[in-house]
Amino acid sequence: MNFGRFLKTIFLTEFILAIAKAIKEIFKSKKTINYPFEKGSISPRFRGEHALRRYPDGEERCIACKLCEAVCPAQAITIESEERKDGSRKTTRYDIDMLKCIYCGLCQESCPVDAIVQGPNFEFATETREELYYNKEKLLDNGDRWESVLAKNIKTDKIYK
Ligand code: SF4
Ligand code: SF4
Repeated sequence: MNFGRFLKTIFLTEFILAIAKAIKEIFKSKKTINYPFEKGSISPRFRGEHALRRYPDGEERCIACKLCEAVCPAQAITIESEERKDGSRKTTRYDIDMLKCIYCGLCQESCPVDAIVQGPNFEFATETREELYYNKEKLLDNGDRWESVLAKNIKTDKIYK
């Protein structure tokens, strides 16, 4: 038997070191959080649930350019559009199949008016597949709900673009 190992075994060196480490850890701050009652911080670049944003006057930002639809590698976005009476072009349909989405963020990157974004919400598990077929109404609702956080995140990230 190796002599060093023999001494370690006799004097329980590793056991004592392990106990000392365990005692030291007791007095350190916790490394875990009590989720879902406590939540960790999330990066402004976090790519969570999608949302469609509006301007402060309530008008939809999306101009139906379909860049997001074209760039989506999962072909998860479906857009239909028409011209309004005032000559502006708006979507009549904006669907995202969240089951196809791979959360790559390309839709958000491609949007010229910061309309489609991925927000901080990651708690949108559902019981049925159908609930994950998002339509325009659902996406606009998400935008209204998260607008203050979304606007702040976009502002924070702008300096890196
Ligand atoms: S995050 Fe990527 S995969 Fe999902 S909808 Fe946007 S472009 Fe498509
Ligand atoms: S969300 Fe943005 S990229 Fe997609 S169609 Fe609307 S304006 Fe164009």
